Amino acid sequence: MVMSINSNKQRLIKWVRRYPLIALSVLAIGYLLGGFSKNDDGVLPQQVVITGLYLFVGIVPLGFIIAFVIIGSLSDAQSIKNRQKSHNFNYQDAFNLPSEVMHGYKLALLTDRLPTLTGLTGDKYLSDANALCATDPAHTPPVAECECGFYAYKELSDAQFERSINPGSFLLEVDLFGLGFTYKDGFRAETQVVNHLIKPKRCMRCKTLPAKVFVCTYKLTPTDTALWQWQIRCVICSSNFKEEDKLSNEQMAQHLRLKII
Ligand SMILES: [Zn+2]
Ligand SMILES: [Zn+2]
Repeated sequence: MVMSINSNKQRLIKWVRRYPLIALSVLAIGYLLGGFSKNDDGVLPQQVVITGLYLFVGIVPLGFIIAFVIIGSLSDAQSIKNRQKSHNFNYQDAFNLPSEVMHGYKLALLTDRLPTLTGLTGDKYLSDANALCATDPAHTPPVAECECGFYAYKELSDAQFERSINPGSFLLEVDLFGLGFTYKDGFRAETQVVNHLIKPKRCMRCKTLPAKVFVCTYKLTPTDTALWQWQIRCVICSSNFKEEDKLSNEQMAQHLRLKII
């Protein structure tokens, strides 16, 4: 059920992205049918074509909005149900916890002058680390009622989809250990070992040529704090960087203490 709401949402977002192209095609068809010519001599009466275009422009986005509202309320209902279910679990009893191997995928940014793994929520971590709780220092994550712990998706496809929304991030393949909970699409656990950084195939700037070199870029975030952020780029898009702002795959792998594949 959760999977299907999620995959429906992903499918819907893909269609929303295609919409501009579809709209252009519809306009082109409208043009070919004589919708924009001065004299009404097209295949269809001009009024019909124009009305069709208006309907298309009005109704399709409305359809998208309605679909988002429906999917949103379905997944809200689902998460309320999940939460009720999880309250029936006795988390104090470690023997009741999920005992599957916690292997998964997640996203991280590479920030700072000395490359550092940084979660999309902003917490920095090493490739082999115990989770810390930002809310309550007394917690040893994960705590059932809190949000602390290392998170990972079970499925590579979920992480890949998330990356399509966060194109500046990198895919990590991880194993989680210690106490762990399963949540919606993955795991939340005490200890995390990052096995691999899965390198994007294409340059993060031109999105065309093969990705070859890590470069350090400097950008201002919406909160006006400066951020050093590493990207992987092609030979051309990295050519005007100074040597000290570049790292090879091997150098980056050494800094992060993980394999890059
Ligand atoms: Zn906590
Ligand atoms: Zn490039």
